[in-house]
Amino acid sequence: MGEMLLQTHAQHRTPPGPRGDPATHRPDGDPDANAAPPHPACRTAARGSRELRSGGRRRPAGRAARATVDRPRHRTCRWRRGGGRDASDAPPTYHGRVDLALLDSTLADLGQPAFRAKQVWEWASRGAAGYEEMTNLPAGLRDELAARVPFSTLELVREAHASDGTVKALFRTQDGRLIEAVLMRYRDGRRSVCLSSQSGCPLTCTFCATGTMKFGRNLSAGEILDQALHFRRIEPIDNVIFMGMGEPMMNLDNVLTTCERLPDVGVAHRRQAISTVGWIPGIDRLAQQERPIRLALSLHAADDALRSEIMPVNERYPLRDVLAACARFYARKKRKIFVEYVMLEGVNDAPEQAVQLARVLDPKVYKVNLIPYNPTGSYDGSSREVIDVFRDTVEAHGVEATVRLTRGRDIDAACGQLAAKSA
Ligand code: SF4
Repeated sequence: MGEMLLQTHAQHRTPPGPRGDPATHRPDGDPDANAAPPHPACRTAARGSRELRSGGRRRPAGRAARATVDRPRHRTCRWRRGGGRDASDAPPTYHGRVDLALLDSTLADLGQPAFRAKQVWEWASRGAAGYEEMTNLPAGLRDELAARVPFSTLELVREAHASDGTVKALFRTQDGRLIEAVLMRYRDGRRSVCLSSQSGCPLTCTFCATGTMKFGRNLSAGEILDQALHFRRIEPIDNVIFMGMGEPMMNLDNVLTTCERLPDVGVAHRRQAISTVGWIPGIDRLAQQERPIRLALSLHAADDALRSEIMPVNERYPLRDVLAACARFYARKKRKIFVEYVMLEGVNDAPEQAVQLARVLDPKVYKVNLIPYNPTGSYDGSSREVIDVFRDTVEAHGVEATVRLTRGRDIDAACGQLAAKSA
């Protein structure tokens, strides 16, 4: 449905869409520590950097210690500096057969006026589960559309429900790719959805389940939107963050196209956020957008050596350049940037690393979000006590820091975990 309706939008003015319950909205849509869906928690998982572990013992952090450890081999990270590929080299987006052409041709075949497509979108964006609910369409037309125009680009393979209310959905695309999305429910009523932008990911971060999967392709805008529509069918949603499988900045056209449609689904632009591991061309492009979409930066280490070790993309876009791009974003948008920092025991959680983190971040520009690592058997997650000391140290050096609520631990809620297991 997303594919079809995205293209429908190109020809029809935006219809009045429903909104999530305004009472549940935070004033600024701030996807902060406890509001934003987990990015690395969304992503962090089972990458097997067992070389960095030491039989469950805390490994001394620091460059000298790291130098004695075999670095994990990064599969085929083609994205290092000088690696010869660019965002534009990414594999082409798959175009599903569900599109406006199919809807329009079907409607034309059936002798229907063009406004029917707008009616279909109005229903879908309000959470309709199928054509049979679209009661302002003639019954015969509903039957014809159900038979001839698939309602979604995605097939739901599995849905897992956590004890904390988190819902994780595993989908299969029409060409057989597995992707995931997560709905997080918060006590204050907020409903945040974490969306995937790629099938697999080429960037091979060592702590990430998605990074272990073979990279497939960029998702189409319709496939991204259909993830959100799936959860909208369950209940109203009011926040979206692109922190699921894949690097959204490598598929920015389709991500931004999806963003244009989300207000109809109940998610205003101010409540949309795009997370990146530091893909600078995307950061600069996002800064040029008029929409007040937030930026989140997955940092995870404040020195280039460690960052390159756990995030190979750092060799292409080093820390200093990434932070300069974020400074440009802030200068233009005047919206704080959320720094996501997943807490890996003995890797990046020492107090001196907290000091180092605070020193590279401008307190006016950044807010740090510490993320307890979703335990998966590869890296160990830092203890709560260590996380608290790290947070206090960052704050003592002038940078705001919070610890994210953990969500969906009992359902493999880190993005990529279900898909990696199912692949
Ligand atoms: S960029 Fe890719 S590999 Fe790295 S954390 Fe994000 S999804 Fe995982």
